[in-house]
Amino acid sequence: MIPATTFKGKTVALFGLGGSGLATAKALQAGGAVVIAWDDNPDSVARAAAEGVPTRDLREIDWASVASFVLSPGVPLTHPKPHWTVGFARAAGVEIIGDVEIFVRERRAHAPDCPFIAITGTNGKSTTTALIAHILQASGRDTQLGGNIGRAVLTLDLPRDGRFFVVECSSYQIDLAPTLNPTAGILLNLTPDHLDRHGTMQHYADVKERLVAGAKAAIVGTDDSYCELIGDRIERAGTMVIRISKRQPLANGLYAEGSRIIRAQQGATSLLVDLDGIQTLRGSHNAQNACAAIAACLAAGVSEEEVRKGLQSFPGLKHRMQPVGRRRQVVFVNDSKATNADAAAPALSSYERIYWIAGGLPKEGGIASLAPLFPRIVKAYLIGEAASAFAAQLGDRVPYEISDHLERAVAHAAADAERDGEASAVMLSPACASFDQYKNFEVRGDAFVAHVSDLEGVTMLIDLPTGGK
Ligand code: ADP
Repeated sequence: MIPATTFKGKTVALFGLGGSGLATAKALQAGGAVVIAWDDNPDSVARAAAEGVPTRDLREIDWASVASFVLSPGVPLTHPKPHWTVGFARAAGVEIIGDVEIFVRERRAHAPDCPFIAITGTNGKSTTTALIAHILQASGRDTQLGGNIGRAVLTLDLPRDGRFFVVECSSYQIDLAPTLNPTAGILLNLTPDHLDRHGTMQHYADVKERLVAGAKAAIVGTDDSYCELIGDRIERAGTMVIRISKRQPLANGLYAEGSRIIRAQQGATSLLVDLDGIQTLRGSHNAQNACAAIAACLAAGVSEEEVRKGLQSFPGLKHRMQPVGRRRQVVFVNDSKATNADAAAPALSSYERIYWIAGGLPKEGGIASLAPLFPRIVKAYLIGEAASAFAAQLGDRVPYEISDHLERAVAHAAADAERDGEASAVMLSPACASFDQYKNFEVRGDAFVAHVSDLEGVTMLIDLPTGGK
């Protein structure tokens, strides 16, 4: 845990006592702050109180005595509308911050030179964060990974010289971190996503821009116009910008030509690494993630050789295009995180011959947008509530069966792929939510892995999850 020593002796109000909110309350207490915490959910309040966190309805406190107000990530500061607590804090002129801001202040106070890499973007945040942490760990560096992925940032070990922090930041976390100053900041891409939670696209982009604007080195994707403009603007304002692209050559920066990652300096180019053969980094979206990770690691002093080694051994993230098993020419891929058609597209684009397991609780539009990728699908195995609607959308363009359940789909797809004789992928990339048959996409992915491991003669490429099915 990182005690919030910079708040010593101050009164801090806090709202949101879910997992990371509770961790923040404890970090504040450990640092010597006087905490007053609250939540709209009485169970969360009771649990916090049982764990020794002072609780009180924030409508009833004296806001004039409050130095800072801490909002948990996910509690709206602005959209769709400010949470009721925000009004109290604003009326009293109290600063509103989040756990990432507390981390930033602790780092500045105790180890301002310890490398801090912050990652944001619409897509690919977790993959890029995990990849950077993996490259650093594989090269023997003391590495802490957290934020919007894995552990809440204040539950990580203390900032100290030589310790690397790799922190994924959601828009909410950036909005609540006014002095965010990473050593390397990454903005991968920006596309409309959850605008209900961010208001306009411009507001969403403005928030994301702050992560790179405050960075010593800003790594910015140039494949969409929002990011391109942000890169230009912060460079004009004096930030050092390293541009990355997954699809076009750059005069300066890192770009992908297929699976080859190329570094350009003043127009002179050199091949940094070829991702071909790295199963966990297939596809142009992963080339973008890899470019960003490589740029951040090089900026943090990692050697090219160490970067190459780390990329080669990246185990991938669970449930995201993750190769989990192999049987002769067939690879089994868990992409359970793909809960809509857009999210399934990268996985379908990354393999040539696919035995595709899809379905679950359908989203609007179904799989119509995936039609250009249909030629890659040898056969589809449809499960869950979406099965008949997806069958209608596939029509006579793709052979399919209604398998109903995942276990049957895996067995049939594996048998068909085995008979095929050519290299192929049996892939769960459902393009649907999981809730009709599973608690969440993680449980669905674990079930897929368990069914794959039950097949005869499969070599598992990962450790088996506990639970599942
Ligand atoms: P996030 O943390 O931003 O949600 P993840 O790394 O968890 O992103 O990836 C989630 C899904 O998003 C992946 O399964 C893949 O389909 C897609 N994806 C990953 N990286 C990118 C990228 N750079 N551009 C577009 N889509 C991506």
